Amino acid sequence: MSGSNDHIDDKARRYGKQAIVAAAERLQSGGLVAVPTETVYGLAADSTNAGAIAEIYRTKGRPDFNPLIVHVPNIDAARKLGLFNDLANKLAKIFWPGPLTLVVPKTSDCPVAPAVTAGLETIALRCPAHPLMQELLATSGLFLAAPSANKSGGISPTKPEHVKHSLGKAAPMILDGGPCESGIESTIVAIRDHDYQILRPGPITAEDLETSTGKVALNQTGEKIEAPGQLASHYAPSKPVRLDAMQPEPEEYYIGFGAIAGDFNLSVSGDLAEAATNLFASLHDADASDRPHIAIAPIPRSGIGAAINDRLKRAAQKD
Ligand code: AMP
Ligand code: MG
Repeated sequence: MSGSNDHIDDKARRYGKQAIVAAAERLQSGGLVAVPTETVYGLAADSTNAGAIAEIYRTKGRPDFNPLIVHVPNIDAARKLGLFNDLANKLAKIFWPGPLTLVVPKTSDCPVAPAVTAGLETIALRCPAHPLMQELLATSGLFLAAPSANKSGGISPTKPEHVKHSLGKAAPMILDGGPCESGIESTIVAIRDHDYQILRPGPITAEDLETSTGKVALNQTGEKIEAPGQLASHYAPSKPVRLDAMQPEPEEYYIGFGAIAGDFNLSVSGDLAEAATNLFASLHDADASDRPHIAIAPIPRSGIGAAINDRLKRAAQKD
């Protein structure tokens, strides 16, 4: 099992065939591997191995009502695990491989361990675009459950060093794909017959979904927390966070945007996609700084700005 601390040495681990074969073997024998995707680093394990899934929950300290996303190499593989109606097929064809997670009913012979779906009748599936993750899926032949590779509730990792920092001694082998491209977790969409609901905003925006389906998303209804990434406090640094700050107070580490420089500027040119890529790295840096408080400049709410503001709201919320 994992839990060992033998990282591949720095030279060998950067995206080599050897590293991928070693990672695949470790996964096949029930171990964990931290993997890059185009969104954030994931903590991967064989989704059909109950022991390996238990190890993910232990390593993250994740509440076990919080189900995991299963990563698949393509739509055909996804259909072994979940039932795809016309709408699900359409979305998968348009956005896969890419940062879209689809929540669909499980197949009757779905082979994943019960803890993956935390007892739900649905399953969350994603086909990632990152070439290293794709190669790992092909080499291992596994469907990989992979939540973000950080302690539960903490800031998601967008670089290998964030994984080491968050998981400490419990960090497993890390496949190093460098910094993640989109930097914010996948958009989660639940298929509801012929309609859909956005459970978590992300890099694929509400506008993208509307244009491609010709339908507006259903409203969030009811009190039930279906995607616990939607808990009020999540992605939280250890320090108080102040949002929409036009300027910093003396003790604050200031995260800027556009013309507002700050200690860390999310995007000097005011580009929201670039800001999303840099968001979690800025929170990691702010957390590691010697300043006891964090302040963040206003970020527009349009497009992927909706996902950025969603994460910031949760980062600022205590419990
Ligand atoms: P993470 O792996 O940290 O990106 O979080 C995965 C997110 O996917 C969590 O917010 C889960 O609650 C959500 N999720 C996974 N499976 C399901 C499911 N069957 N239904 C609804 N949400 C899900
Ligand atoms: Mg997470």
